[in-house]
Amino acid sequence: MAHEPSFVTYTENLQKFMRLPQRGNIIAEYIWVDSEGGVRSKARTLPEKETPYTPDELPMWNFDGSSTGQAPGDNSDVYLKPVAVFPDPFRGTPNILVLAECWNNDGTPNKYNHRHECAKLMAAHAEQKPWFGLEQEYTLLDLNDRPYGWPRNGFPAPQGPYYCGVGAGKVVQRDIVEAHYKCCLYAGVKISGINAEVMPAQWEFQVGPCEGIEMGDHLWIARYLLHRVAEEFGAKVSFDPKPIPGDWNGAGLHTNFSTKDMREEGGMKHIEAAIKKLEARHAEHIAVYGEGNEKRLTGRHETGKIDTFTYGVANRGASIRIPREVAAKGYGYFEDRRPASNADPYQITGIIMETCFGAVSDE
Ligand code: ADP
Ligand code: MN
Ligand code: MN
Ligand code: MN
Repeated sequence: MAHEPSFVTYTENLQKFMRLPQRGNIIAEYIWVDSEGGVRSKARTLPEKETPYTPDELPMWNFDGSSTGQAPGDNSDVYLKPVAVFPDPFRGTPNILVLAECWNNDGTPNKYNHRHECAKLMAAHAEQKPWFGLEQEYTLLDLNDRPYGWPRNGFPAPQGPYYCGVGAGKVVQRDIVEAHYKCCLYAGVKISGINAEVMPAQWEFQVGPCEGIEMGDHLWIARYLLHRVAEEFGAKVSFDPKPIPGDWNGAGLHTNFSTKDMREEGGMKHIEAAIKKLEARHAEHIAVYGEGNEKRLTGRHETGKIDTFTYGVANRGASIRIPREVAAKGYGYFEDRRPASNADPYQITGIIMETCFGAVSDE
């Protein structure tokens, strides 16, 4: 593949420096969500402690929001408020990854801080014990923005051999996928699996079940880890919901959901009640289920149509799928298949809680 080798980090060479002692210091990589659905990060030194840092013990920090499209140039400071801490798989323990919320200097949440609202909804409905499981589909691109391994001029053979594929010519860059999986486990991200997807160069990882706000936190860290790993292998990660037009599957962020009541005997009536509520607010959900989703939700390629709400047992062409096994048992969870791969998990999980259990009033 033709690309500039200078873009690639030489991790192996780096290893000998990574082993040097840190002399009582740790490195904290502060990570935040930017204005384009990407992640940004920067690092700082902190004194090593006996016990691991909790979010409350970590200092607030800030960044130049005018450089990320998150603030105007004449009032550019955006504050970073630590909300979750993970072991850093790149630098190793005791170094940490710090997920941070973005706040404006007038004390309001930044426009792209969707976590704040989501956390309020999760706290208000905590007694529901809401569990989420997200299936993050993505496409690996070369540095010329072409899906990895695709012929330079033209297309691979039609879809069929690639989904859960094994073997050369069927899957590419399993090394990135494997490295990412290990990084997630090291960091304590609740990754539950991976698989190759229907379109060549497309993969999926699943995170969950996670309860409440943890879902968004873990998915964002999993995305950060994927970008970082792929960076080291010289690949780009695309969360575009329809990276290649035509007869190629798009990429989604299927959202599996259950509450305590749904997971217990007789749970099906709670599942059905939730689906009825979702039906009544289809448009509101689509509005926060990712940009460019209309290119993906066509009613073809295992999707429902963007302007109609449908549900069914084991139906992958519906908006909502009740897994066969759940229907047979009479309790469990359901899958909202509408969210696009580039959607914000805080917005998805937040609006599901709002629709099913009610909005929270501003105090
Ligand atoms: P699919 O068959 O749609 O490809 P996957 O196996 O890829 O499904 O993903 C299923 C997801 O559902 C996983 O993230 C899993 O953790 C999650 N999940 C399983 N049980 C529940 C539950 N009771 N509530 C919410 N999510 C669940
Ligand atoms: Mn899946
Ligand atoms: Mn999938
Ligand atoms: Mn699915």
